[in-house]
Order: sequence, then C-alpha cells, then structure tokens
Amino acid sequence: MAEMELWFTEQQTPDLGFTCKITKTIYTAKTQYQELAILETKQFGRMLVLDGAVQTTIADEFCYHELISHVPLFTHPNPKKVAVIGGGDGGVIREILKHDEVEKAYLIEIDREVIEASKKYLPEISCALDDERAEVIITDGIKFVSENKNMFDVIIVDSTDPVGPAVGLFQDSFYKAVFECLKEDGLFVAQTESPFYDQDLIKNVFHAVKSIFPITRLYLGFIPTYPSGLWSFTLGSKRYDPLEVDISRIKRIDTKYYNPELHKALFALPTFVQEIIK
Ligand code: SAM
Repeated sequence: MAEMELWFTEQQTPDLGFTCKITKTIYTAKTQYQELAILETKQFGRMLVLDGAVQTTIADEFCYHELISHVPLFTHPNPKKVAVIGGGDGGVIREILKHDEVEKAYLIEIDREVIEASKKYLPEISCALDDERAEVIITDGIKFVSENKNMFDVIIVDSTDPVGPAVGLFQDSFYKAVFECLKEDGLFVAQTESPFYDQDLIKNVFHAVKSIFPITRLYLGFIPTYPSGLWSFTLGSKRYDPLEVDISRIKRIDTKYYNPELHKALFALPTFVQEIIK
C-alpha cells in the first residue's frame, strides 16, 4: 500500500493557497493568543505556523531575519539598545547580536509559548535568546512601547499579520508611541506585508509613519514562503537616512542575504510599488 501523504496549506488570500508536503507534525498547541504548530516539511525543513500562517522556516528564515535587522542596524551609526516587538522565534535577536556595539537587545513578545516552542524545536533560529545581552519581556508590545519613553536606538517590529493581538501594531497610535519610545536620533522598522496582496496596508502604514517621522523609506526583499515572495519593510527615522549611509564603512558580518552592496539597492522600488506609496 502506498504511504499516505500529508500536505499543509496556508490560505494566503481567499483565492490562493501555498501548499507543502509535511513529513511530521512535531508539535501543536492552542495558546492563550493563537494556534501554534511546528511542522517538518520536505521542502523547507522545520516550519513555525501561527493561526495557519507560515512565520518562518529553517530554509528561508535568513532572508527575513537579516533584512529586518541589518538594514536598520547599519543605518544607525551606534545602536546600543535595541528592542524587538514580537519576534518570539528569536531570529531577529540572533541577527541583532551579530553587531558588537549592541549592548542589550530586548524581545517584547506577547506569547510565551512561541518562545518556548522555538527554543525547543527551532534551536537554529532561537539560539541567541539565552545570550547575556538578550532580555525577554513577556508583554503586549503596544503597552510596552507606550509605557517607555526615550529608551531605544532601534526598534524592530517583527509582528504576525494584522490579526488578533497584532492588529494594534499596524495603527497610527502605535507608530506615535514608537516615536516617543525611541531616543532623539532613533529609528524603527516594521514588516509590512506583500506589495502584491496588501497594497492598502502598505499605503496606510507608509503615510502614517511619514506623518510622524522626518524620514520614511520602504524597502523590499524576497522571502520564498511569504505570500507572493515579495515582502515590504517600512522604516521611520528621526535622523539617519538609510540612503545616506556610507556603505564602505559597513562591517562585513556573517550573512547569507544582506551585504553592503544591497543596503541601498533594497530601496530601489519597482514602479508599481512606487505608485502604492505616492
Ligand atoms: N516573521 C514573522 C512573519 O512575518 O510572519 C513573524 C514572526 S514572530 C513569530 C511574530 C510574533 O509576534 C508572534 O510570536 C506573536 O505572538 C507576536 N505578537 C503579535 N502581536 C503582538 C503584540 N501585540 N505584542 C507583542 N508580540 C506580539
């Protein structure tokens, strides 16, 4: 008898699914905030899924984690104190700690169980969470940011899609609180979904950030397991412009996607994306 095949599908839009073969269901849980699954996939290795949406996989996590971390950290000339909002898998913390000048990286994650499952089943991604420069705070990022002023050089918003507890992470009031939470020359970046499927979201976030921060930029990257593959990041900065960075001074660190030559090139937008943020 032929062995039964198991397939996981993320419904990326009401009319489109992303399907991959599962060799093992490693772990599932219903947490206080979301449904969590760790799956072993044939194509991408282990995969973290929250509420049916792929968060990260062993094979392509470097694309997302490097892009959301190194662009802001190499734009700020001296990032000492950095916060990640969300990011419970630990991938962004691992990338941040590749920067020697970072003294402390805080992970502000609402769901403790995402961190615990990632530590247990995704050690390649979560490996830096026990580093002495890392501190994990379990709380709502919206509350944390609104209660702390003038505290960080860089804030990285590594959120889930705008559903459930992450809805508020895409709202104007949150970006105002992020502005206040940053030091006087601070900057932040947020993942802002796909330019193919989430044009209204990108437009709204870009204009909200632009009304608060003196410098607002959008950049793009390729992440195979995210809807459409093409992904956007919105950066708001009080002083430093990523396009003004002297790339000859960017240190070579161990990366697979990011490099100094890409730093400014990531901000060169296809015409249809330029139209979205006009
Ligand atoms: N890179 C992923 C993506 O784009 O799909 C996101 C990875 S990370 C696992 C996202 C995390 O954000 C989740 O663990 C979720 O619990 C957390 N999160 C959602 N809303 C939050 C909030 N309001 N405060 C803090 N963390 C939040």
